[in-house]
Amino acid sequence: MTRASPSPEGETVLRFHRLSVPTPYSVGPVNSYLIVSEPVTLVDPGPDWPAAREALCGALERLGLGLQAVARIVLTHSHSDHSGLAHLLHEATGAPVYVHRHALAELAPDYDYLAVRLPFLRESGLPEAVLEKLIKLKDVLPKPVVYPEEAVVVEGGESLEFADGALRLLHIPGHAAGHLCLWDEADGVLFSGDFLLPDITPNPVLGPAPDNPERRDRSLEHYLSGLEVVRRLNPRVVWPGHGEAILNPPEVVTRNLAHHRARLQAVLDLLGGSALTAYEVAAALFPDLRQFDIFLGLSEAFAHLDYLRERGEVEAFYRNGTLYFRRVGTG
Ligand SMILES: [Zn+2]
Ligand SMILES: [Zn+2]
Repeated sequence: MTRASPSPEGETVLRFHRLSVPTPYSVGPVNSYLIVSEPVTLVDPGPDWPAAREALCGALERLGLGLQAVARIVLTHSHSDHSGLAHLLHEATGAPVYVHRHALAELAPDYDYLAVRLPFLRESGLPEAVLEKLIKLKDVLPKPVVYPEEAVVVEGGESLEFADGALRLLHIPGHAAGHLCLWDEADGVLFSGDFLLPDITPNPVLGPAPDNPERRDRSLEHYLSGLEVVRRLNPRVVWPGHGEAILNPPEVVTRNLAHHRARLQAVLDLLGGSALTAYEVAAALFPDLRQFDIFLGLSEAFAHLDYLRERGEVEAFYRNGTLYFRRVGTG
């Protein structure tokens, strides 16, 4: 499936195609964006999965391009459905992989996703048996890897120059620590990765703060301020990492802000007058969570609890190594 960017004047500024690449995850296919202005640039090649490889190569062929046409690869973030093919594509083409410093750290071959999050899972109140199962879960996709020598490390703020325009790389964390969005200011087009999605509110994924790994990252705080950044950019259209183009970005920003406000209130209501663990909050918000969704549910719970704690509405204390949260004034 390919799309070109319609601009208000009917002419195209940066020409690109949306390539729908299948993933084995419940989120469905991932959007890979091929910007055909020189140097030809591929944003998020997709997962390292046979059907994805086939789809990507097939799409390039139908456009009359070989893999070799790709001169630059950009990753919005480290998650395997977006980044898995970057290494193979680099090997095939020599194209450098533009990636945020924090995402590159997660793409290191020896990076163990759950191990670095284990201290947070241990204090979450997750029953030991469930934790053991979670640790042993095997992803259907191989761990995505990008080697430092393949990468161009960015911090955000850099501009990718093309023959017909430019894309500014914006570091907008909240869903993932090293998340980048790509902003075509001339055309009012934002490539949002998983930061803004048409049908779902992205998970504020649990992880260590990149510059202070003992602490949880303030993912929800980052996410909410990122929404304000997007609101100020005021894009005409947002091309997301999954699903169709977002033609009403301000509405989606408002919807996501309202979603989190409602969830913050729901967490306060849940706490009531008692002290609860992050696991108890997750289980109340999302009954019947299984497998990796348990981790995502815990991410939601921690993100909202930590945010309320930062705001002074909730306090936390340890009991036998487990972290409990309660509303201020109810202890
Ligand atoms: Zn993601
Ligand atoms: Zn995704």
